[in-house]
Amino acid sequence: MKIKEKISLRQFNTFGLDISADYFAIVTEPQQIIKLRKTFPDLPKLILGEGSNVLFLEDFHGLVVRNEIKGDIEIIDRQTDYVDIRIPGGMHWHDVVTYAVEQNWQGIESLALIPGKAGTAPFQNIGAYGTEIAAVLIACHAIDLKNLTPVSFTNEQCAFGYRDSIFKQNKGRYFITSMDLRLYPGRPPRIRYRALENKLKEKGIKKPSILDVYQSVIEIRRAKLPDPTVTGNAGSFFKNPIISREHYEQLKKKYPDMPGYPFTDNRVKIPAGWLIDRAGWKGFREGDAGVHPKQALVLVNYGKASGYEIFKLSERIRADIFDRYHIELEREVQVV
Ligand SMILES: Cc1cc2nc3c(=O)[nH]c(=O)nc-3n(C[C@H](O)[C@H](O)[C@H](O)COP(=O)(O)OP(=O)(O)OC[C@H]3O[C@@H](n4cnc5c(N)ncnc54)[C@H](O)[C@@H]3O)c2cc1C
Repeated sequence: MKIKEKISLRQFNTFGLDISADYFAIVTEPQQIIKLRKTFPDLPKLILGEGSNVLFLEDFHGLVVRNEIKGDIEIIDRQTDYVDIRIPGGMHWHDVVTYAVEQNWQGIESLALIPGKAGTAPFQNIGAYGTEIAAVLIACHAIDLKNLTPVSFTNEQCAFGYRDSIFKQNKGRYFITSMDLRLYPGRPPRIRYRALENKLKEKGIKKPSILDVYQSVIEIRRAKLPDPTVTGNAGSFFKNPIISREHYEQLKKKYPDMPGYPFTDNRVKIPAGWLIDRAGWKGFREGDAGVHPKQALVLVNYGKASGYEIFKLSERIRADIFDRYHIELEREVQVV
């Protein structure tokens, strides 16, 4: 395992920010994580996957450890109605989805084209088009960086919530090395998302197959989201806020077209993109930092924006949204 010094992380974060790390290592097997931790006990450490959900504000004075733990997808149990698979954490997530769809295993087809490593997927409980990884994850395996021991979590122990998990709550403590998913051979996919439903209708598909859903999700995402290899971004910058029903009813009086989706405990989830769009930020640009013209939830780096400029823009948006709606927007992107 090579440890590099003073390297640019530009190609390792999808905002394309040219910041540097004092030390940088790529791990290909779990034991190397323990070795690194013992070699550099006092250095601040950052676990990095594909950098598609981080915003660096400045150079990182510590050790960046990139997860490249590779291997084959392993079948650990197969029954007539399900198959359990173990996935190495360093695999590209979309490759896992493609593999499952090729086997005609149902469960993750709606999570196609989400950038990042498989091992990062549980960190924020990735989700899209009505599905989350929590729905199919049966176990997560990690190295506890505090005790330097391997540790496994059941689905329940992962404490999944909306873009949340025990790993996010204890950021930097657990290095996820692999995870086990339960998928369902040939089970008809469930469509729980309007845009996906409309796409399938538009294509004249009445009884969608797993492959139909996978392809439709890819088409929607390609049309809607900026490609980070062309325009720097980290997907949704903010989480969709969850507010009390009472608050929502009040806002509805002023904004009758405000969408809201029922959430647990009589609360309502509001699309952050709608709030930002309605406040007039869509397409806003200052220098090279901006709000994507097609998708108000995505902040972009048009080239030379610094992490601070993007962060400052996000603060302005948060303040404005609070003034208008009394809603606190929480960042989904991890600020480093
Ligand atoms: C165009 C675009 C579209 C997106 N769409 C979606 C979407 O639809 N749904 C969605 O949920 N997300 C979406 N995202 C966000 C992002 O793809 C996911 O959050 C993804 O899981 C991040 O993976 P990564 O490997 O790039 O993580 P990184 O950005 O490298 O890391 C993110 C965080 O996870 C921690 N981390 C990374 N690896 C590990 C590990 N092995 N163990 C413990 N902690 C770790 C890091 O320290 C960091 O805090 C999108 C991003 C982009 C750029």
